[in-house]
Amino acid sequence: MIKELVKDETLLSKPCEEATADDADVAQDLLDTLASLEDAACLAANQIGVAKRVVAYLDEDDQPHVMYNPVLKLGLDAFKTTEGCLTRDEESKVTRFDRIKVAYDELADGELRPCKRDFSGWTAQTVQHMIDHCKGKLV
Ligand SMILES: [Zn+2]
Repeated sequence: MIKELVKDETLLSKPCEEATADDADVAQDLLDTLASLEDAACLAANQIGVAKRVVAYLDEDDQPHVMYNPVLKLGLDAFKTTEGCLTRDEESKVTRFDRIKVAYDELADGELRPCKRDFSGWTAQTVQHMIDHCKGKLV
């Protein structure tokens, strides 16, 4: 279901709780909402009002993916940049890594399974932005 974006900084600043396999509906809402937005590359559950660590993002081929409980494990090649956010008006200065290793859970057969993945470039930046949202950190 397409949801309204939450811009309330009090809500967005709160660290999110661990997601479980029961949050599959939230993941679907994220995918639906992300698909409905123009020029959006990623969305975290708290941006649609659910304080759980679930995120959706589009890869470089515009294919949607969901991650449950993403954690940054390793970052290489830090650089400074400015980033915009769907639920924030101004751009912010941030330090990001060009290459990252992320641990997360994936939903398969109704259960969460731990996964790891490497990202680089634009997708790496997007994923770091999402992990910050899960921590309640606004760029
Ligand atoms: Zn954002």
